Amino acid sequence: MTSLYPHLLAPLDLGYTTLKNRVLMGSMHTGLEDAAKHTPRLAAYFAERARGGVGLIVTGGVAPNIAGWAKPLAGTLATHAAAKRHRVVTDAVHAEGGKIAMQILHTGRYGYHPFAVGPSAIKSPISPFKPSELSARGVESQIKAFVRCAALAREAGYDGVEVMGSEGYFINQFLSSHTNKRKDGWGGDYSNRMRLPVEIMSRTREAVGRDFIIIYRLSMLDLIPDGSNWDETVLLAKAIEGAGASIINTGIGWHEARVPTIATSVPRAAFAWVTRKMKGEVGIPLVTTNRINTPEVAEALLADGCADMVSMARPLLADPDFVNKAARGLNAEINTCIACNQACLDHAFKNKVASCLVNPRACHETELHYDRTLKPKRIAVIGAGPAGLACATTLAGRGHNVELFESASEIGGQFNMAKRIPGKEEFHETLRYFGSQITRTGVRLHLNTRADAASLIAQQFDDVVLATGVVPRDPKIKGQDSANVVSYIDVLRGNAKVGEKVAVVGAGGIGFDVSEFLVGDGHSATLDLKAWKAEWGVGDPAESRGGLKRPELSPPTRKVTLLQRKVGKPGAGLGKTTGWIHRSALKMKQVEMLSGVNYDGIDARGLHISFGDKHKNPTCIEADTIVLCTGQEPLRELEAPLTAAGVKVHRIGGADVASELDAKRAIDQGSRLAARL
Ligand code: NAP
Ligand code: SF4
Repeated sequence: MTSLYPHLLAPLDLGYTTLKNRVLMGSMHTGLEDAAKHTPRLAAYFAERARGGVGLIVTGGVAPNIAGWAKPLAGTLATHAAAKRHRVVTDAVHAEGGKIAMQILHTGRYGYHPFAVGPSAIKSPISPFKPSELSARGVESQIKAFVRCAALAREAGYDGVEVMGSEGYFINQFLSSHTNKRKDGWGGDYSNRMRLPVEIMSRTREAVGRDFIIIYRLSMLDLIPDGSNWDETVLLAKAIEGAGASIINTGIGWHEARVPTIATSVPRAAFAWVTRKMKGEVGIPLVTTNRINTPEVAEALLADGCADMVSMARPLLADPDFVNKAARGLNAEINTCIACNQACLDHAFKNKVASCLVNPRACHETELHYDRTLKPKRIAVIGAGPAGLACATTLAGRGHNVELFESASEIGGQFNMAKRIPGKEEFHETLRYFGSQITRTGVRLHLNTRADAASLIAQQFDDVVLATGVVPRDPKIKGQDSANVVSYIDVLRGNAKVGEKVAVVGAGGIGFDVSEFLVGDGHSATLDLKAWKAEWGVGDPAESRGGLKRPELSPPTRKVTLLQRKVGKPGAGLGKTTGWIHRSALKMKQVEMLSGVNYDGIDARGLHISFGDKHKNPTCIEADTIVLCTGQEPLRELEAPLTAAGVKVHRIGGADVASELDAKRAIDQGSRLAARL
């Protein structure tokens, strides 16, 4: 059989070792790296990805010493005893025929602890701790820590290491005059500032020998003021190659950059052009990265000569079998990462073990099992939104006989509205995945069928799962029956005529989505790389330092005011790593955001509001249309009659708890119930 992806699946010969294909599982912090008790879980997580066919795994960041910790007690490799513990991970990966490199991550001024160090004592905007400026001896001891860590990684059985030199961490901080104000031999002009990574690389190569992979993650586009220019980046890449690197991986954007680099609204492969620019400058393999989430995109980049390998981190959380499925032509069955960050990065930044919104087994491989059932049951699942889809397909995959009832003409529930928002096109992929799983697992799907209690009782199912979702909450605002008031559902389904001046009531996830939908002209910048780069001010690092230029903003198509009753920043409840992007996107479209309001009434002029308990500053937000985005209530009308008839009923998703309903909880709950039944 001819491979659909000849470039992606081609081996890569490094001389002393061969990678079986061009997929590098990029480093992704899961939280499992940080406690010895989690080592068996970490081993199971990586072993599953190795079994899935990935060419080379890179672990989450491991600190070379205490100063390099990301947070107190972060995973560290500085002793022989620690190296012995890591053996559990490397043995598990090797047993599956995989290869694994350990990332050495020194966070420098990004460290969230009082022992943080940096080239200069300059606090970062993302940590409250000001780093101590290293003495020349201190610099030397950090280099030694990197080298010792790499040697211990080899002792632990790793096939290589990745030296983290990008995203604004310690090494990157030496490179940029933004953070390096030193006057000694480690600061000043660029040749001094780049000494640190070159010393680390050459001494590491000397310590580990020639037959060990050393990847250097090089910041090719800093996206910060005073970032590197292209000449400096090329100079560094050549020096890193000369110092003995096996592979150069691409790093895009410091963590403090105000340009999104991996969120779902970033176009696919948005930064592959940066790696391509480096092609030909060095002779060693280059890895390209960021928002590459399908085998088609990866193949096209490699075929196009952008890079020698592609890095995918989150896509392998979403589907550990990504590579094997691609190799077998089962691409429709790949569970695609939608770049939401909700269960992976948002968890990591909240000190919770990571997982994946579309795959709750990620990082939970030792406790969430979908074993084949020995006693197949007849189970009805009512509602084909994310919760019902996850539950029905997992149940059927385990061998149960499952009937899935959906009143609409298509599967997807709330996802069908989400996918209409510019920048949320990836939701189509999840629906495509679940569609393929319905076929594969043999779920009997009944569309356009509103299940009623009498017929469910008559069919004598062993279990009935209610995944009936939600209905919009009634905010009970005086005058809300006026002709100028519509619900978000009418707007997103295209059933409402929306005027030029709009008030959006409710600033939760949906209020933000609806506002973004209404200020745009229907053209999604996520599908148009040139427009997206212009909007966020991403330029060529050969023309401006850090690759930043003035954003080109297009005017909004409507004047939107977004309101909430709570005091405080609107959108505070949005994702930890993505909320700022939604707020910035609305600011760029001049959306006015008001907090702490009372809704005093609605009339033909618009929405009458006042502020605070004492109803101060009454005013009218003049609006042609008022859109209600005031949350949801559970829809569970079937529960009482079914329970009364003695049917075993289970509630999941929004039908269970509507407040702060999100797809992460819905899919997790549906999958976990399916694992138990
Ligand atoms: P939500 O996040 O619960 O927000 C509901 C909004 O309505 C809040 O701003 C709330 O603010 C307001 N509200 C609640 N009761 C009200 C009442 N009686 N009268 C007037 N206003 C009221 O719900 P959602 O926006 O419908 O989103 C549902 C879920 O989908 C969210 O939890 C979210 O996780 C998920 N989602 C997320 C995103 C995202 O992260 N980008 C996007 C879409 C959906 P006040 O009470 O302060 O007025
Ligand atoms: Fe991708 Fe979202 Fe899963 Fe993270 S949680 S891996 S971003 S789908």
